[in-house]
Amino acid sequence: MRTQIVAGNWKMNKNLEETEALLSELSAKLPDTHAEVVVAPTFVNLAGAQRNLQSSRIKVAAQNMHFAEDGAYTGEISADMLLNIHVDTVILGHSERRSYFGEDDELLSKKVKAALNKDMQIIFCFGEELEERKSGNHFAVVESQLKNALFDLDAGSWSNIVLAYEPVWAIGTGETASPEQAQEMHAFIRKTITEAYNTEIADGVSILYGGSVKPANAEEIFSKPDVDGGLIGGASLKADDFIAIVRAI
Ligand code: PGA
Repeated sequence: MRTQIVAGNWKMNKNLEETEALLSELSAKLPDTHAEVVVAPTFVNLAGAQRNLQSSRIKVAAQNMHFAEDGAYTGEISADMLLNIHVDTVILGHSERRSYFGEDDELLSKKVKAALNKDMQIIFCFGEELEERKSGNHFAVVESQLKNALFDLDAGSWSNIVLAYEPVWAIGTGETASPEQAQEMHAFIRKTITEAYNTEIADGVSILYGGSVKPANAEEIFSKPDVDGGLIGGASLKADDFIAIVRAI
C-alpha cells in the first residue's frame, strides 16, 4: 500500500502572524487520517512552523534548497540548514522554479542528489506546459523530465522520493486536469519507472497530482488508482479548504 499524501505548497504567501494562525487552525481541525499531511511555508517561517507543529501530525517541508553544502551562495539555503531546524522534506522542481528561476533538469539532478546525500525526503515536481499537451508531446516531456533528473539514481534512493505530476497549464489557473487525464499520466509515469527500474519501485512510489485541486474536485481525482494524493497551492492557504481536501483522501 502506497503512502497517501496531501501537501500544501504555500509559495510566497503568509507572513509570520498569518503562518502561525493558519498552522493553529490546521492543527485544531486536522481530521483522523491515514494520509501524511505536509505544509511548506516560506523559508523565513520554517523554523517557527516546525516548532509550532512539534506535537502535531502535520509535517513541514521546504519549497526549495541549494545543492551546495555551504559557502558563497548569497540568498541560498542548504540541506544542512533545513535539517538543523528539523525539516527533512523538500519540494524540488516546481514549475515556478523551473520557469521563473531557470531551474533545468541538470540543476535539479544536482539538487536531488544533494538532498539524497543527506537522506532527505523529496517531493519532485514536473509536468508539461500547455503547448506541449496541445501538440501531443506531454508523455515525452514528462518522460524526459523524469529521466534527466531521476533515472540515474540507484534503486535504494527511490524510497526517499515522492513524485508530483503538475501540468503547468493547471497550476493556479482554475483549470484542472480531468481525473482521467491525471490517471492516464500517472499510469504512464509508473510504466516509465517500471521500464527504467522495476515494478516494485514503480508500485511503491507515491505520485501526487497538482494543479487547481480544490475541495470540489479532490475526491474524484484522489479516487483514481494511480493518484496517491495532491500537492495543493491556492487551496492550501485556507484551513477549511485544505482540511476538506485532506478529508477527501
Ligand atoms: P494550485 O498550485 O493548486 O494553486 O494550482 C499547485 C502547485 O503549484 O503546486
